[in-house]
Amino acid sequence: MDDLLFAKEAFIKKLEAVSSSAELEQLRVRYLGKKGILPEKLKQLPKLPPEERTSFGKAVNDLKALVTEAIALKNAALKDAELKRKLAAEGIDVTLPGRHVTPGRQHPVSRTLAEIIGIFTAMGFGVEEGPEVELDYYNFELLNIPKDHPARDMQDTFYVTDDVLLRTHTSPVQVRVMQQRRPPLRIVAPGKVYRCDADVSHTPMFHQIEGLMVDKDISFSHLKGTLEAFLHRCFTPETPVRFRPSFFSFTEPSAEVDIGCIFCAGKGCRVCKGSGWIEILGAGMVNPRVFEMVGYDPEVYSGFAFGMGIERIAMLKYSINDIRLFFENDLRFLRQF
Ligand SMILES: [Zn+2]
Repeated sequence: MDDLLFAKEAFIKKLEAVSSSAELEQLRVRYLGKKGILPEKLKQLPKLPPEERTSFGKAVNDLKALVTEAIALKNAALKDAELKRKLAAEGIDVTLPGRHVTPGRQHPVSRTLAEIIGIFTAMGFGVEEGPEVELDYYNFELLNIPKDHPARDMQDTFYVTDDVLLRTHTSPVQVRVMQQRRPPLRIVAPGKVYRCDADVSHTPMFHQIEGLMVDKDISFSHLKGTLEAFLHRCFTPETPVRFRPSFFSFTEPSAEVDIGCIFCAGKGCRVCKGSGWIEILGAGMVNPRVFEMVGYDPEVYSGFAFGMGIERIAMLKYSINDIRLFFENDLRFLRQF
């Protein structure tokens, strides 16, 4: 009986020291668990003299009831305190002013590129990409521009080694696709290109998109029709379009394509240098030499290719007079779009 009294006092002391649900659970197991203090006491019952059993059993059960109730009360008190702490910590002050969020915007070059790609994909062209660090072989040789060709001087190339360079145009993508697949082909290849050049209309990095269509019986009229449809959607359906003979080693015959000046409607102004026309892209029928190099029979297949600078189109669409503005990251400029 003295042991019981001692156990009761020890329990009360320990209960006062408990400060968390975990500690309380430990205490409960210690006193009421299968091998806890009180069940162990009950096991001693048969060893006692018969006249003591009743009173000892009652005392143990009374203590068990007391411990059980005390733990339940303490448990409720702890839960309450924990909830209050949590509410205090997570409280939201609804009177605080909100945080201002500045939405991002699409860069005018990205927006123009997406619009151009959208027009061509609607016409059934797929989109292809290729490496920006390219082999001389793909950038020049396979495009019918051998080492001694004067056209190489027209493109100020960044060389990494003698054979590796930063691509000067997206044309190598066309060659790579032609090597991997058989006609019919109908693709556009957008991407960054690099040339060692910088002034109001040139930056060392800019964006191009090139297109290629190869199949049986493709003629120059398909090229004209495709580009006219594109330019009429990119600018306005009334925009005049003209083709001028030109030279590119990748194509034969080749043409440069102009649109009627969108600033003076053909009357002549500073932008079109008084001519009423603005050069917008280069195009032509794929040179049979190129087909031979990629293993297509030029007697069976024909095709057209075209290419244009994205910044140039964006400058015309948004009346921007200096290409460098696109890459200065001046927020006052970018927020206008
Ligand atoms: Zn003009």
